[in-house]
Order: sequence, then structure tokens, then C-alpha cells
Amino acid sequence: MKEIENLTPMMKQYWEAKQKLPPDVFLLFRLGDFFELFLDDAKEGAKILNLALTQRQGVPMCGVPAENIEGYITKLVKAGKRVALCDQVEQPKPGQLVKREIVRIISPGSNGYGSILHPKEHQFCMSLVPWRNKLGISFIDITTGLFLSGQVDGEKEFFEMLNRYSPLEIIIPQGEQFSFIQSNEQGKEVLDGLSSDCFIHRYFSWAFSYEEAKNFLINHFRVSSLEGYGLGELPAAVCSAGALLRYLGEELHQSISHIGPIQQLIPANTLWIDTIAQRTLEIIHSQSKSAKSLFEVIDRTVTPGGGRLLRRFLIEPSKELAVIEERQQAISFWVDHPKPRKELREILEKVGDLERLLSKVSQGYVNPRELLNIKLSLSQLPLIKNLLSSLCDETTSEVSERISLERDIVEELDKAIEEDPPLSNKEGGIIKKGYCQALDELRELSEQGQKWLIDYEQKEREKTGIKTLKIKYNQVFGYLIEVSHSQSKAVPPHYERRQTLANVERFITRELKEIEFKILGSKNRANELEQDLFRALREKIASRIPSIQKTMETINKLDVISSLADLAQERKYCKPTMVDEPLIEIEEGRHPIVEQCLPPGEFVPNSTHLGPGQRILLITGPNMAGKSTYIRQVALLCLLAHTGSFIPAKKAKIGILDRIFTRIGANDDLAMGQSTFLVEMNETANILHNASSRSLVILDEVGRGTSTYDGLSLAWAIVEELYKTNRSLTLFATHYHELAQLADIYPEIKNYSMAVRENEGNVVFLRKVVKGSMDKSYGIHVAKLAGIPDRVIAKAKKILSIMESGQKKKNSKKRKEPSEGPSLFPSLFDQKD
Ligand code: ADP
Repeated sequence: MKEIENLTPMMKQYWEAKQKLPPDVFLLFRLGDFFELFLDDAKEGAKILNLALTQRQGVPMCGVPAENIEGYITKLVKAGKRVALCDQVEQPKPGQLVKREIVRIISPGSNGYGSILHPKEHQFCMSLVPWRNKLGISFIDITTGLFLSGQVDGEKEFFEMLNRYSPLEIIIPQGEQFSFIQSNEQGKEVLDGLSSDCFIHRYFSWAFSYEEAKNFLINHFRVSSLEGYGLGELPAAVCSAGALLRYLGEELHQSISHIGPIQQLIPANTLWIDTIAQRTLEIIHSQSKSAKSLFEVIDRTVTPGGGRLLRRFLIEPSKELAVIEERQQAISFWVDHPKPRKELREILEKVGDLERLLSKVSQGYVNPRELLNIKLSLSQLPLIKNLLSSLCDETTSEVSERISLERDIVEELDKAIEEDPPLSNKEGGIIKKGYCQALDELRELSEQGQKWLIDYEQKEREKTGIKTLKIKYNQVFGYLIEVSHSQSKAVPPHYERRQTLANVERFITRELKEIEFKILGSKNRANELEQDLFRALREKIASRIPSIQKTMETINKLDVISSLADLAQERKYCKPTMVDEPLIEIEEGRHPIVEQCLPPGEFVPNSTHLGPGQRILLITGPNMAGKSTYIRQVALLCLLAHTGSFIPAKKAKIGILDRIFTRIGANDDLAMGQSTFLVEMNETANILHNASSRSLVILDEVGRGTSTYDGLSLAWAIVEELYKTNRSLTLFATHYHELAQLADIYPEIKNYSMAVRENEGNVVFLRKVVKGSMDKSYGIHVAKLAGIPDRVIAKAKKILSIMESGQKKKNSKKRKEPSEGPSLFPSLFDQKD
């Protein structure tokens, strides 16, 4: 403590600020044009930021320019640090310690600075709390104000949510133990099996208590109960939501006034697509860098907010007929009106990321150019409204009603902000002439002063006869009269010498100092006034945030709907008829991603009929025939149909599904230490436990990861279980042609295969799904196509023919006993029921 007493006043101020922070938080301390890190923060920060570590009076330090602070904060935050900004909160005065305060703490999940934000992605901070036998989970994207909250039954669903919304940070109560959260070698807590991009922070456990959380939310939203948000019966959700909002507001000192209202997470009306299906169907991210995801191929949104909403459409497809049909109807409208659609999209393109700009307004670090951007975005609203109401359509008129124009804000910004303002609001030059009389007067004073100086210089030259006499400005001495040495003797006696340099002498006069006082005073006051006016404008916009956010909901939706219409028209997608029955009927469906990767017209469309009488399709065919593409296509089209989007098909009728399950191919979970076969069986077990008669299940080559007999037996039993117990709509792609015998036993199982043509010993894949199974695997043909040497191919053919003739002999012997079933599974026939 003695050491602290010996510190300079500035370091004492630093120390006091540091004491207020949780120990893991880095403190960036404003010193003039720099933010400095000191002591241990400096040592670690210098490494992360690749800066030179220096020392001042034995204290390690390193600094970064305040101008580029965003980039440095982002780097620190990406390294998992929480960073506090301690800024100067008043104009520095000579000889006085400037007042500094912690203005904000930035954590991985709450970094509002643009540089790491993907425009079309949300950036979530998440909270998790156990409450009785539930887990409460909430998400806030502080950069847009989106707030989601819900509760789940267990760990598995928690992981589903985690993967769905990919938060960058999770907060959990202090002292609470979770089986899936462990400390790593560095002593940091990490989540089992999750990427290292997500950081965990502990927060006061009392903040997660029901009463505290509820009251915090009620006060924040100024409501009397949380029923209106659907959280009345969800206490675990309330605990997590209240703690998360408090964490952002109180622990991180962030502005939370723009956050909300709370939307229910996992509303009961979404089609559930678990993490595995999300990944294997490549809905948001593709599994390889060269491939594209569904989102990437269908995304034509022109605003960041629209892009984010489209993503949510894809990860939260609806199960409600009314919601889907409303979206379909809107898309149809824009498909039928291509010209206004084009106009609408041209206007939308000029709407910037208002939600993120508003968050900056609320946080107080919006810059003058961003205010201009807000003006530009808002000034598109009347154009959109006019366009919508000119269409003489009931629905578009209704949509138009939901857009509030905020005309006064646009007008005010137009009057106030210069057309090309500086980036920073500190240096002046932001406010237009004519906006504020007092400011104009101050500016005039300062300009008059400048003019006076020019005249004064001229007059003094004439009076003294010194032609080279100049008026100069210097930070330390202010305005000075500069005269060369040789002529300094000619200066009049009332000139006071202030500075002698190598070639010149500098003087002041009383008159000069008086005018300096006026000029500098008016300049400073003008500057301060500009900042006040800027702040007032910011506050005025901030007061409109809820209303603009509401309008943006409509604008985002317009963007998504019109972009889906664009897609539908250009790619010839059709409107599926949605029904409340378990069936899928697709005529000439196409895989949305594969289709776009092939030259036009090369993709072979295929139809699908699943439903009563035909609930399980077994699809046989050689490798590379197109089985996986086909079954994924069906899942993707069903998913798209549930978002309300049109789908790549000629015609379709799709029943509302509750879940889509996939078990596809060998995953790269090997890296996580699990055998491929074990992963495959885990995923299959999950399907058997959870799939219902309203689920779509697609299975690709299940049973492949073990010996033939093992695999085949398992595949057989799994299909039977799906048929008898789950009764799900199922597509099962397999190269075990023996499974085809299941169709002889069970009436609702049907055989299909991928057509192949043999041409002089070569195979040609027709990519067409046809009725009936295929009893030939063509493995050797495919191997040949892949470039296995002819010698090896010839040998393989020889071995195959020996084996096949052996099998035939065996079969012909068995056929003598007609009551017996298929060669491989005679006993299964006995179990027919
Ligand atoms: P399998 O699962 O039978 O091994 P895939 O579904 O992986 O076969 O398909 C192999 C390749 O065939 C794919 O990469 C794709 O380019 C092409 N393909 C699949 N289906 C079609 C189709 N309907 N039309 C055109 N090409 C297709």
C-alpha cells in the first residue's frame, strides 16, 4: 500500500480504476492520444498485440493509438480477454489531472466494434443456469438488441441451442458445477467438445435467482409482469434472462437501453433440426471450404438485418401452417410483381445496418459519419412506404402501415450534420452552418479573429518596415510575431521577447494576446458546443430506438421475402402446398446446392412420394450414383418449405413435420476420439429414441462402419424399428441390396434405386431414382472410373465372378425348400407381423 501512496497522481487514478474491476479484466487507460496498458496487463497485452513493451519509472507499459482502438480491442477480445476502457471524461485543463472513468467493458460476447462483426451474423452472449430440473438459457446480441430466452430439459438440448446460435461467451453462476464444464491446463473453464472460440465467465449467483432476475427484467422493460413475453411459466428462462441483462449492464457497464423485447427461444412451433442435421445438411455452414451452404446459395438479401433474419428462418423453420402460408403468400406477391420488387430491392440496398448503428447510438460511441448513415437509411423509409402503398394490395398496405418514418429525425440530421463530417466527434466540423445560432456566432468570432491576425500582420510589417515579419502559432506560447535575427533590432519596444531560435526571434504583444484569448476561447467553446449538440442529437435518436427497431423488423422481413421471391423466380422454384398430414410428395425436386454447382440443365430432377402406404424408401445403387444427394435433397426441400420459402421442384405437397433427423456418412468426429462406428450408432440411437410419425429421417449407409454381417443385421433391425415403432417417414440409402427383401415383408417399405446404364463394360450414372432395387454394386466399375490400375480391376473381376458363381450354387440348393426366406436372414421371415 505504501507503494501506492508513492505513485504519481495519474498512476493512483489508474490503480483506483483497476481496483474496481474483476481481476481478469484488462484496463486500457487513456493518456492523451493513446490508450495505455500497465504492469501485468502490459506484459500480456504486448504479446497479444505484438507491441513493444516499454517502461516508465520502472512500470512496464505499452500503448495503442486511441484512433485505432477498435482493432486492438478486437484482438484482445478474440484472445478471450475482457477489456475495460478508462477514458477521459472532460477536456484536459493545464496543470490539472483530467477526470477519467471506466466507460465500458468489452467481452468476447459483447464487442460492438465493427471489425469482427459479420454483417449477416448475430453475435451472441449466452447465459446458462440450472433451476429445479430445468436449464434456463438466454441469448443477447448487444450489437442489434436481439434478446432470446427459454428453458430446456437437459444437457442435450442445451448443446443444441449452443450449436444453433454459436455464442462467443457464456455466463454461468459462481459456484455452480456443470458436468460438461471443465478447467483446462491453463486453469480456464471450457465446455466439453466445444470450439475454443466460446469463453466462459462466472457471474454472481444471486443475479441468477428468480426474484432478482425477474425484478431486473420488470424494471428494465417497465412492465408489471413477464407474461407478455411468454415467460410467465418459464422461471428458469427468467433467471437466465435477468442475469444476462444485468451482466451486460452492470458488470460490463454497457448500455442496455436498446435491448429487447424478449422473444421466446425454442417456441413450441418450430421444426426441430438437431445439430447433427444442421451440420450434415450444411444449412448455415458447409462442411468443406470449397462447398457452399444452403444459406449461401439461397441468400439474396441486400441488408445485413435481412441476412440475419434469413439465417433465423433457416435455423428456426416454422411448424405452423398459418405462419408458413403467410410467408408463402407474401413471396407469391413479389414473384408476381417483378418490377416493383426490383425497385424495392434497389431502395433496400441503401438501408444500412440500422440495428447495429442504433446499438452504437445507445452505447454512445456512434460517430458523425454513422449518424449520416442513419439519416441515409431512414430516408429510404418514405420511398419504401410509398412503393408499398402504391401497389393497391391489402397485405402490402398493411406492411406499409407498420413502417414509421421518423421524419423529424431525418430532417434534424439533415439540418445538423455536415455532408462530409470527420470520423471523430472530438475535433469539430460536424455541425452545419445555420443549425445553431450560438455556434455560428462562435465560429464567426474565431474567423474574424483569423482575419484580424492577417490584417495585424500586414499592419505590423508596414509599421516596423520588417517585410519578413510573420504571425505564427505554437502549442506552448500561442500566437507569436516571428522576426529573423538580423532584423530583430528593428522591433518596437512594446514587443516582448518570448523565444529565441537559431534563425529567428519570437515576440508577443498585448493586442496579440487579447485576440488570441478571443480566438482560442471561441474555438474551444465552439468545439464544446458542437459536442453538446452532437450528444443531444444522439439522445434524440436514442429515444426513438424502440420505434425504429419495430420498423426494422418489417424492413428485414421485406428484404427476406423479396429476396426469396427473387430466388424463386430466377431459379424456378415452386410454392409447395403445406398440409397437416404426414406426407411428402415432390415432383421433380432438385438439390438446391448441387444444382447450383452444375452447369444449367445438368442436374437430374427426381420425385419423391412418402406417406401412408409408402413410409420407408430403401434406395439402393452403387457408390457415386447419387443416393446421398437424393436423400439430402428431400430433407433440404422439406426444411425450406417450412421456412415459407419456395422450393426447387415442379410441384410439391408437404406435410408439417416435427423434426428432421439425419444419419449421414462417416463424420470427422474421429478427431474427437470417437470411432466412426460409435458415432454412427450414437446418432442412430438418438433417432430411434426421438423420431415420431411426424418426423423425416434420412439414413445414409447405416451399418457400414462394421463387418458386413454386423452392419447388415443392424441396418435391417433399425429399419424394422423405424417402421414398427417410430413410424417416421424415412429414406434409407444403402448399398446392402439384401435389405431390399424388407419390402417383401412390410407393405409400406418400398424399394427404389438409382438408375445405371451399362455400356460395353462401363457404367453410366443416370442419376434417376427408379422403382425397384438394384442387386449389383458396380463397385469395380466405380473403382475403374477412379483410376485403379487395369491389372487390379481385372483381378477383382475374376475374384467376383468366382464368388458370385459360388453364391448362385448355394442359392439354387436352398430354393428347393420354398418355405424358407431370403438366404441371409431366414429367421426374420418367421417374425413377420
Ligand atoms: P452416392 O451417395 O450414391 O455415392 P452422391 O449422392 O454422393 O452418390 O452423388 C455423387 C455425385 O453425383 C455428386 O457429387 C453429384 O455431383 C452427382 N449427382 C448426384 N445426384 C445428381 C443429380 N440428380 N443430377 C446430377 N448430378 C448428380
